[in-house]
Amino acid sequence: MLETLNACPVCNGTQFEKSFECPDHFLSKEVFNLQRCTNCNTLFTNPRPDQESIVRYYKSDSYISHSNQSNSLINTIYKTVRSITLKRKLKMLERFAFKGKLLDYGCGTGHFLSYASQHGWNVRGIEPDDTARSQISDNLTSYVSSSLPELEDKGFDVITLFHVLEHVHNLEETLNDLISRLNRNGVIFLALPNYKSADAKRYQAHWAGYDVPRHLYHFEQKSIFQLSKKYGLNIVSTIPMKFDSYYVSMLSEKYMGNTSTFMRGMIQGYRSNKQAKRTREYSSLIYVLTQ
Ligand SMILES: [Zn+2]
Repeated sequence: MLETLNACPVCNGTQFEKSFECPDHFLSKEVFNLQRCTNCNTLFTNPRPDQESIVRYYKSDSYISHSNQSNSLINTIYKTVRSITLKRKLKMLERFAFKGKLLDYGCGTGHFLSYASQHGWNVRGIEPDDTARSQISDNLTSYVSSSLPELEDKGFDVITLFHVLEHVHNLEETLNDLISRLNRNGVIFLALPNYKSADAKRYQAHWAGYDVPRHLYHFEQKSIFQLSKKYGLNIVSTIPMKFDSYYVSMLSEKYMGNTSTFMRGMIQGYRSNKQAKRTREYSSLIYVLTQ
């Protein structure tokens, strides 16, 4: 079932404009409509599959963040980069927060949880997808719940959402719940694709960062500024994810039907990062938020 939003999920604004139509290149090939809130600039998929019917749009063996199979070059690159970024992510956490209790919301197959746990963090995870959860290593399964209401723990020093918030139907409920579980000095790390990036502008409806209908919202820096204000959070830092431009460009090249996706993706990824040095509009950004 499709559901239609009558107010902006970020700022509750009611003035929208139709932006463009975007196909689900990854799986269903269905076409979805993106609208832009004229107040906060958030694009959102509208109408969108409701929470029950979205499940089938994740049913693919190759939805990578949920799978450990390696079946293509892009997939292999994704995994190599993932292991490099694990180290960087943890360093970033320790730069802004006390090493203590960590909640990874949308932890997928648990790679980051496992790495953080090995480095002295007391970890908890939330992952709604059964297939992903079944791949979490045995010593961690008791620390991962399928939904937030099932989690009893509070007082987190860090809550991470790495490319997760754009998938969450009940945005307000989830954010309020997460914030209520944060320590007074706790920090939220929010990693999101940025539709103002050069790669997004280049590929438009073929940009892999839109990933409709799985991505319900498409953010840029202004949207997150408005979102933070609404929830009483401060943006203390905005950190680029420079690998994402390459990965996203390669996938976008594939969606365009081009050949040599690896080389083309490398070139466009490099260009996007180079431009972002000046504009700060990287392909993906991590927002560091405090109360
Ligand atoms: Zn809005």
